[in-house]
Amino acid sequence: MVDIKEVAHKVYRLETSVPGMNTVFAIYLIPESDGVLIEPGPAAAIPIIQEGMKQLGMEDLAYIIPTHIHMDHAGGIGTLAGLFPGAKVLVHPRGVKHAVDPSRLINSTKMVFGDDFELRFGPIAPVQESQILAPEDGERISINGRELQIIYAPGHAPHHMVILDHSLKGLFCGEALGFPSQGAEIFLLPAVAPPSFDQELYLDTIERLRQLETQMLFYSHGGVELEPERLISMVAENTRTFGDIVLAGLKEGQAPEAISRRIGDHFISRYGLKVNETDVEVIVSGYAIYFNSKGLV
Ligand SMILES: [Zn+2]
Repeated sequence: MVDIKEVAHKVYRLETSVPGMNTVFAIYLIPESDGVLIEPGPAAAIPIIQEGMKQLGMEDLAYIIPTHIHMDHAGGIGTLAGLFPGAKVLVHPRGVKHAVDPSRLINSTKMVFGDDFELRFGPIAPVQESQILAPEDGERISINGRELQIIYAPGHAPHHMVILDHSLKGLFCGEALGFPSQGAEIFLLPAVAPPSFDQELYLDTIERLRQLETQMLFYSHGGVELEPERLISMVAENTRTFGDIVLAGLKEGQAPEAISRRIGDHFISRYGLKVNETDVEVIVSGYAIYFNSKGLV
């Protein structure tokens, strides 16, 4: 039996671990007559998705919606689309080429997780172009009276989008509203993925999503959270502060390790918490690439 929980009206959450990453990955199923799968994850997660669907009595999928084309969110879309040939895979227009020809995604995954990543995460297969739907910003799909709206949310990646469920006032936010650090309480780090993180776009997206006045956030690397305003303020603050610390450190010629320590010290004084060192190293390198590309250092 797969551990599957109804986390909001007819929204079911499954959890899988991402080996080699200090995080969980959440998959959401909406078992309407046209089944929806939000955040399919890597191909290695497909057996638990199928098991979860069986438990919910879901036979088919109409929509497969990854928030963005990174391996941990979308590695399985090609294989899944093959298993459910009637399904449409919703992808941001800027992500379509990576879904149809995942060679760049495969290369970046190899760089992070090694040439043998398939052993742990499963293969990354292409999606047939005929199954891809590239929604416009703000486009809605209606499923049994449930309105799902796609909203472009660049910053973590240029092809990131989020899904607003109007009936729940709930937002499937991917990594657009921070990366939850695990612990008794939720703390949000900026979800910085080198090399395409863009701080300005990320902050801009955060403010646009704040204006939606949602009541529920469905995280992909965390749970379901009910205090959007507090959490959105926290991720905005940390995105700015971390950026300020990295930029100051780079201008002073500090090494990445020293900058990471400064972020760690700041986090302890601000929240009384030790932040995961590997997470901070990735964040520092993503900001450094961003500030370099902007010509600021
Ligand atoms: Zn990502």
